Amino acid sequence: MFNSLSDRLTSTFKNLRGKGRLSEADVDATVREIRRALLDADVAVPVVREFTAHVKERALGEEVSGALNPGQQVVKIVNDELVNILGGETRRIKLAKNPPTVIMLAGLQGAGKTTLAGKLSKWFKGQGHSPLLVAADLQRPNAVTQLQVNGQRAGVPVFAPHPGVQSEFDSVTGDPVAVARDGIAEARQKLYDVVIVDTAGRLGVDAEMMQQAADIRAAINPDEVLFVIDAMIGQDAVNTAQAFNEGVNFTGVVLSKLDGDARGGAALSVASVTGKPVMFASTGENLDDFEIFHPDRMANRILD
Ligand code: GDP
Repeated sequence: MFNSLSDRLTSTFKNLRGKGRLSEADVDATVREIRRALLDADVAVPVVREFTAHVKERALGEEVSGALNPGQQVVKIVNDELVNILGGETRRIKLAKNPPTVIMLAGLQGAGKTTLAGKLSKWFKGQGHSPLLVAADLQRPNAVTQLQVNGQRAGVPVFAPHPGVQSEFDSVTGDPVAVARDGIAEARQKLYDVVIVDTAGRLGVDAEMMQQAADIRAAINPDEVLFVIDAMIGQDAVNTAQAFNEGVNFTGVVLSKLDGDARGGAALSVASVTGKPVMFASTGENLDDFEIFHPDRMANRILD
C-alpha cells in the first residue's frame, strides 16, 4: 500500500536537492507535483486542497531553520502535514474506569470487522486482559461461526446467540441489540474486562443497517466505536466513512487490508474528513497481522 504515492513524493523531493534557496516558482512547482501525486493516489479532493495550501503557506513563510536545507525543510513540512491528516498523535484505546471496557465494531460487510474482532481480542489477551467477544452480527449467516473460529484461535470466549447452549444470558431472539446487551451483562457477571462487539454490515450503506448499529450503540453505550474500513475500496471510503460517522458517531478508525496493493489515498483521507483518528491497521488475514497505527511512523514510511 502507498508504494506509488511514496515513489512520487520522494522523486518530487529529489528535484529540490542541492538547491540553496527556494524561489516561489520552485515552491509552486513542488506543490503542484505533490497535488498530482495525492490525487493520483485517490486522496480526497478537499483533503488535497487543504494539504497543499498548508504546505505552500509554510514553505514560503517559514524561516529556514539552520539545520535543514530548503529541500529538507519541504520534506519536513510535508511529513508534518501527513501526520496531521492521519490524526496527529497516536491515539490509544480508552479503558473504562469501571470495567468492562466496551468496544463496538462497525463498517460495511467484508470490511474486516470479524477478523479484526479476533485480532483485537488476541492483542488484549496478550496485554493481560480478559476479553470476551460478542457476536451481534446476525445478518450474515456465517458471521457467528466465523467469530467463534477466530475466538478459538485467539483463545478468547465468544458470547453468541446459540440455540441449544443454555446460559441464563442466552439470547435466542435473533435480536442483535439484545445479544449485545446480554453479552455485556455476561461480561459483568463473569468479570471479563474487555468486551468486543461485532456488528452486522451490508455491502453498501443502508438506512436499516445504520439504524441497527445506532440502536446497538445506544443500548450498550460503548467506550469506543471503531469504524473498520477496507483500504482497497478507493474513493468510496470517504463517503462510507461520513455516513458511518453520522450514523454511529464512531470514536476511531481501523484501516484494514493495508497489505493490499491499492493506492490507499482514500483511506488516508478518512481521518481528515471525519475528524476521527486512525487507531489500528490490519495487514493480513492472520490474527497477528495487526498493529497500533502511529501517524508519525506511517508518514515516515510514505516519505522514506
Ligand atoms: P466483515 O464482514 O467486516 O466481518 O469482514 P471479515 O472479517 O469477514 O473479512 C472479509 C474478508 O477479508 C475475509 O476473507 C478476511 O479474511 C479478509 N481480511 C480481513 N482483514 C484483512 C486484512 O487486513 N488483509 C487481508 N488481506 N484480508 C483481510
